[in-house]
Amino acid sequence: MAAGRATGGGGGAVSPPRGVLPAHARRALPLPLGAEPRRAAPSPGSRRSPSTAIAMSFLFGSRSSKTFKPKKNIPEGSHQYELLKHAEATLGSGNLRMAVMLPEGEDLNEWVAVNTVDFFNQINMLYGTITDFCTEESCPVMSAGPKYEYHWADGTNIKKPIKCSAPKYIDYLMTWVQDQLDDETLFPSKIGVPFPKNFMSVAKTILKRLFRVYAHIYHQHFDPVIQLQEEAHLNTSFKHFIFFVQEFNLIDRRELAPLQELIEKLTSKDR
Ligand SMILES: [Zn+2]
Repeated sequence: MAAGRATGGGGGAVSPPRGVLPAHARRALPLPLGAEPRRAAPSPGSRRSPSTAIAMSFLFGSRSSKTFKPKKNIPEGSHQYELLKHAEATLGSGNLRMAVMLPEGEDLNEWVAVNTVDFFNQINMLYGTITDFCTEESCPVMSAGPKYEYHWADGTNIKKPIKCSAPKYIDYLMTWVQDQLDDETLFPSKIGVPFPKNFMSVAKTILKRLFRVYAHIYHQHFDPVIQLQEEAHLNTSFKHFIFFVQEFNLIDRRELAPLQELIEKLTSKDR
């Protein structure tokens, strides 16, 4: 990446990847899965541990939450829905490394597709909770700390990267992801319809871009996340995301640089 800026298109990191998280973001670091007990509230009679209950309630939508874009549904009764349920069950075991692995006999494309939809929904909800704080004024450029700035290009409609505010960038980004997920030729939902040959490369681009929303939230909006008592949800979601992309090598290391320190902390404990 030549000129020290990340674009939506090719998308390298902006500056030398030596970012140190600002203090407010660093506070996020050591929280393990579901570390924040405040939202625990397991349903009466639930036998799950409180931490599992938090993770589950967040990841699988028993909480009522504002989303930024409409939630992408996987149709009930489909094989992909079964896979999602499988992911849900294994996540409940608390072992994320195991939970992200390809289930025996399943198709890798389909597994990546289901999880990509799920991550979109999670990020959609997380960003939805802080949209009031992410404005033209607070975030005139899309950044992840002082060292990383992103300019939007989707490579199709917008080829020349646009420098825009974070809310605008994230709107472009999430709309673009939505369009990919809704494209039946890319994400076939019907049984027997094959995934396209370029599916994995499309999924990688989607995940690379979704990562930037996490990076923006951690770097620029961690204070409201704490105030809203959403940090355990954010950490759980991000940790799941990172374990997933690491398992299948889906995002370039240099793209992850803005949150490298956090990633190291989150992943060092659960090998
Ligand atoms: Zn913002």
